[in-house]
Amino acid sequence: IGHTGGMAAEFLVTLATPEQVKSACDGVFFYGRREARFAFVGRSNVGKSSLLNALTKTKLAQVSKEPGKTRCIHSYVWKEQKLVLVDLPGYGFAKAAQSERKRWAEFINVYFSLDQALCEAIVLLDSRNGPTPLDDEAIGFLLHEQVPIRIVMTKLDQLKTQSERARRKKEVKTSLARWGIGPELTHWVSASRNDGISALGGMLSEVARAAAHSITERIQESKKEEE
Ligand code: GDP
Repeated sequence: IGHTGGMAAEFLVTLATPEQVKSACDGVFFYGRREARFAFVGRSNVGKSSLLNALTKTKLAQVSKEPGKTRCIHSYVWKEQKLVLVDLPGYGFAKAAQSERKRWAEFINVYFSLDQALCEAIVLLDSRNGPTPLDDEAIGFLLHEQVPIRIVMTKLDQLKTQSERARRKKEVKTSLARWGIGPELTHWVSASRNDGISALGGMLSEVARAAAHSITERIQESKKEEE
C-alpha cells in the first residue's frame, strides 16, 4: 500500500486474486468505507490510466507501454471528491484467448458481486472506432450483472475535424441506443488535452452525493446481518 501524503488522490489497495477481492470487501479496505466507488473498465490501451491520472491530477495509474499487462484491481481514493476510483484489468487484448476472457469475467464478477459501495461501472471506449464486438461483450456482461453503466469515449483529440466528430457521435449514439444507453450517459474526453475531464469528474461527484445515503444504508444493513 503506497501513501502519498498531501496529494489529491492516494493509492488504496491492489488486489490480484478473487480471494483478495473478497477479503478486501469483507475486511479492512472496503468494509465500512463509505466513499462511493466507480469501477473503470475498458479494452487494454483504451486510455484508462491516462484518464484516471487526468481526473485526479496525479500520476498514480501507470500508463502502459505494453498493453494488456495489468491483471490486478487497483483502487485509488480521490480525496478532493471523496470517491474511490477502481481500476479494473483491461479486457480483450487482441491476442487474449477465450479462456483468458473467462478469467477476466470471473475475477471482476467477484468484485461486482461484493462491493457494496459501487455506484457505476465507467466503460471506456476509444473515440477512434466506437464500440467493438469485445466492448459489446463487456457491456452485455455488465448489464447482465445489473451494474449501472456510464460510457466515456477516450482520445477525442484523435478525431481531427468537426465532421469526423459529428459522424462518430452519431454512430456511437445509435450503437449505444441498442443497450438503452443515451447521450446523457456518454462523455467525450481527451486526457492528453484535458478536454471534458472536469465535467466528467463533476458528474461522478454528483452521482456519488446522490448515492451517499443508500451506500450508508447498505453498509449498516450488512453490519447488522453480521451481528
Ligand atoms: P490503458 O492501457 O487503458 O491504461 O491506456 P493508457 O492510459 O496506458 O494509454 C494507452 C495509450 O494511449 C498511451 O500511449 C497513451 O499515451 C495514449 N492515450 C491515452 N489517452 C489519450 C488521449 O486522450 N489522447 C491521445 N491522443 N492518446 C491518449
